[in-house]
Amino acid sequence: MYVHGIRALFAFEGYVVRKITICSEIVQVNLRRDGRYTLRCPGCGGRMNVHRTRIQTARDLPMGTALHVVLTYPAIQGRCKACGGYSTLRPGGIDEHARATRRLMELVSRLARHLPLSHVREIVGVDDATAYRWDKAVLERKLPPPTLDDLRVLLIDEKAVRKHHGYVTLVMNGVTGELLYLAEGKKKQSLQGFFDRLSDAQKASIVAVGMDRAGAYREVVHAELPEADIVFDKFHLIANYHAVIDQVRREEWRKAKGQYKDAIKGQRYNLFRNASNRTPEQTHSLMNLLHMNRNLAVCYLLKDAFRKLWDYKRLKPALRYFTTWVQYTFVSGVAALRQFGRRLTRYRDEILNFCKHPITTGPLEGFNNTVSRLIHRACGVRNLDYLFLKLRQESLELDQQK
Ligand SMILES: [Zn+2]
Repeated sequence: MYVHGIRALFAFEGYVVRKITICSEIVQVNLRRDGRYTLRCPGCGGRMNVHRTRIQTARDLPMGTALHVVLTYPAIQGRCKACGGYSTLRPGGIDEHARATRRLMELVSRLARHLPLSHVREIVGVDDATAYRWDKAVLERKLPPPTLDDLRVLLIDEKAVRKHHGYVTLVMNGVTGELLYLAEGKKKQSLQGFFDRLSDAQKASIVAVGMDRAGAYREVVHAELPEADIVFDKFHLIANYHAVIDQVRREEWRKAKGQYKDAIKGQRYNLFRNASNRTPEQTHSLMNLLHMNRNLAVCYLLKDAFRKLWDYKRLKPALRYFTTWVQYTFVSGVAALRQFGRRLTRYRDEILNFCKHPITTGPLEGFNNTVSRLIHRACGVRNLDYLFLKLRQESLELDQQK
């Protein structure tokens, strides 16, 4: 049998293949130092004498049916004739202390982008903890630091990352979609850390910030960016309104009796569904309910009207519409609605700023899959640095092929 060119697969700078041994599922590749290669001092560029040689191993990419490919090479410690400094030569693409070649670590990282670490183990035979370390090391090396210049729009939101009220605060560039910041918690201090990194000039370019109404972020943004407009997230506000409807539904259910009680019970989702998503039966039973219960009917009518607020492109008509809608809640005779209307009045500017800056924190929802995948496999994300790297990778859509 004659095999041609297989050595080219192991072209590591400074070394040549001495021998390749294939034993069922293990391939061992012995490298030796390339005699044509002169040892040069990284400090001064002078020639070096070999001081000491040690045999080391590193795993490499799988080959054919063999998952385990092991390189054995002499790590050569040299001493500089000129400056006396020491340095160690090892094959290009193998870092100091690394138990694997960079290209294997990068393969694992590419797989870990789409697969849980346990699946990576099945494909390349690397255990979870190692795959995690390699993925993290590769991302640390490859991902550029966050771009903090010329920011115009920020999106801020919190995300649950642990079962028992563990949250992180995320900040995204609303124009490019780049994730800029992640910190534990959802308090003021959690966000403050982001602004501490910005210079005054960097802060000055920011004109709008999108966020949820409920968070503690508003105060920080007001203090740090007094000129920027805060825009409360449309979808969070609509969800807030849905919670009000649900509260009213529960109150009405408690008051109701007999058959009527049952009519309310199953209607939760019908009340929130858009007309186009309802079956004729669902529409029928919803109409029945609205006919029977005045308070729910009022909530329902105002629900569709509330959504229309975000159709306005100009401030004046939007303000008129907003004021009218809130007035309706005041005269609705439903306490929970009135309360909601009052709260909205307090945040009028932040809601109507949507006309000026039609932004939502929707792009941050795109991370939910990655977050839940990481949480699922680690029972809560223990390492927030890793979570940040993974989410940044998603947000930058970097080509990890290279
Ligand atoms: Zn030197």
